[in-house]
Parts: sequence; C-alpha cells; structure tokens
Amino acid sequence: MSDALARSSAGGSRAWSGEPDAFAAAVLEWFRVHGRTDLPWQRDPTPYRVWVSEIMLQQTQVAVVIPYFGRFTARFPDVAVLAAAEQDDVLHLWSGLGYYARARNLHRAACRIVDQHDGRFPEDIGLLQTLPGIGRSTAGAILSLSLGQRQPILDGNCKRVLARCFAVEGWPGRTAVLAELWRLAELLTPADEVGGYNQAMMDLGATLCTRGSPACARCPLSAGCIARRQGNPAAYPAPKPKRDTPVRTAGFVLALDPAGRLLLERRPPDGIWGGLWVPPQLAAGELPDQWCLNRLGCEPRRLEMLPPRRHTFTHFHLDIQPYAVLLAREPATVADAGGRAWVDPAAPGAIGLPAPMRRLLTEAASLYRHDDGDSR
Ligand code: SF4
Repeated sequence: MSDALARSSAGGSRAWSGEPDAFAAAVLEWFRVHGRTDLPWQRDPTPYRVWVSEIMLQQTQVAVVIPYFGRFTARFPDVAVLAAAEQDDVLHLWSGLGYYARARNLHRAACRIVDQHDGRFPEDIGLLQTLPGIGRSTAGAILSLSLGQRQPILDGNCKRVLARCFAVEGWPGRTAVLAELWRLAELLTPADEVGGYNQAMMDLGATLCTRGSPACARCPLSAGCIARRQGNPAAYPAPKPKRDTPVRTAGFVLALDPAGRLLLERRPPDGIWGGLWVPPQLAAGELPDQWCLNRLGCEPRRLEMLPPRRHTFTHFHLDIQPYAVLLAREPATVADAGGRAWVDPAAPGAIGLPAPMRRLLTEAASLYRHDDGDSR
C-alpha cells in the first residue's frame, strides 16, 4: 500500500477504509444515487460521441457544452462526416466555445482516423494518444466510458478529488506531482464498472468537491479524506505559481464599404484564432488610414477609434484597439477566394468567428446603421 493510502487508512471509515477497492466502491455507491446519467453523450455512448464531448468539456462547463454538443453531433453524426467537412463549418459550430485549437484538432484527428485507420476509432490507448488533441486522460475517458476498458483518467476534477483525499502536495503541473496523481488514479480504478467509476469521479469533483466550497458533509469519501481531516481542503491542489501575465496589443480595422459590408480575413491555421475569421489586423505601428490606402486603394470617409477592450487567453492578455472605417467608395479589392471576404456584419453567415470579434461586428453594424453620411 502507498504511503498516501496507508495514511488515509489510519483515518478509517466504513465507506472507505483506505483500500483501493473500498475507495471505488464508495464512489460507485454514491454515483448510483447522485451521479449524472442522462447527459446527451451518455445516451448511445459511442467512442465518437464520447470523444466530442470530452474535447468540448475541456475548460468548459457541462451546461455550456450541452447545446454545442447537440448542434455539433446533429451536423457531424460520425467521424466520416466530420472528416469530410470543411474546417470553416467545424469552426462555425464551435464559435463562442473558445479554445479553438480543440476544434481544429478534432477535425484533423477525424481526417487521420479516416485516412490511416479505415474510419474506425482506434481502441488501443497508445494509438489513440497519437491523434491530435487526445492526451492520456482524454484517451482513457473515451475508452472507459464508451467501451468499458479499464483505463484511468485524470481530468481537473479527478486531480482535485485525489489531491484532497490523499493530501498530495504541490502544483499538479509539476511532473512529480502529476506522476503521483496518475499513480493513485491507476491504483484506485476498479476492474469492473470502470465507466461508471470514471464518470463518478468527474461528477464528484464537479458537484461536491468543488474548487471553492467542497460539500464534505455530503461526500462519500469524507471519513477517509485527509484534507478534510486537516480542515483545509481548499489548500489542495496547490495553485500554479504566480507570474505576471504578459500583455500584447493589436489594432483591428472594421472596414465598412458603402454598401455596409465589412471586411474579414481568415487567420493563418496556427496561432491565436487559427483558421477563424476576424477583421484585418494592423501591423505594428501601422495607422488605419494608411492601411486603407495601402490595402484597399481608397481613403476612409469616416474613421473612428472605438473603445479598447481586453481579451484574455490562457497565457496572455490581448488588448484590442478597434478602428471603425467607413469607406468613401467601393474598394479596389473586393474579395479574395481564399482568405478575405466582405460580409454583412449583422449576419456574417456560417463562418468561425471568435466571440470578441462577433461582438465587434455587432458594434460595426450599429455604427453603419447610425452613420448619417450620404453613402447609403
Ligand atoms: S471530503 Fe471534501 S475535500 Fe475530501 S474529497 Fe470529499 S468533498 Fe473533497
């Protein structure tokens, strides 16, 4: 028995004595009464549907994911349909969910499954982890929840429950801490009912052992939980060591032609908002009127600096400075088949648009409606 398990067993409880089997039994017993069993991806839990749900649930709450999952699986019911889709269609159905690399990886992985695996979902955990966007925990969740394979998982919820139950110190981003959590996850995962157990661990973390206020009194693990005995569950897991989040700045041009259409450009496939459509970004030091002349060959009739706003990514803040430009005449360059398009900002169509840019488009549409110039 591990030190951590040995320590936990010293606390003793009938529900959970500290033995691996007793831990899983307590969790499963709780799950049968309180677990979530009617989520959309739990009905007909094929590897494909579980995979889509697991990717959507990364960094995103269940209530937010449910409508996205419904629309996504209605449009792309299986891996072959997803692989055959245009990336634009995939990103469009992801618009507003954020972390768009997840959608691009989902699409890439679907293409790889069709090209290299005959359209069949790999059932080997090693093979599954070679696909874009599928790490060890996601692979374990797919195989356990859809096929009942005995595979441990370690998402953020499970990390929190295990770190607290066994008082695992240190930030889980550190290799040694993560290794200890994986060791515990492997040790505790039962041979039977593994899908229910993994779902239960995620549910426990999401509904009882929450980050801010764990409901220890209702928790099936409370008698053996070391953090509870110590009286400081919130101390686990240790937070990421603080460092200043860098700030980047970028100017964006909301260029509206006399017909009220707005220019969008598709971002390169990698980097922030990769593959999504956004208004053109100014180069460092470039002014919006210069940009109009250089890029569109016409001068602005009206140029307005809109209030700046901040969008926070995982690793940095982006301070966005938008400029609204109403063009005096039809620009020389109207459209470009690949990466540029003039769209109605009030109804841009089925394209992938990041949420902050969608809000900017709404502002641009209103600006055009209230312009009293003679261009309409
Ligand atoms: S007893 Fe409290 S801290 Fe421990 S696992 Fe349960 S909810 Fe989390």
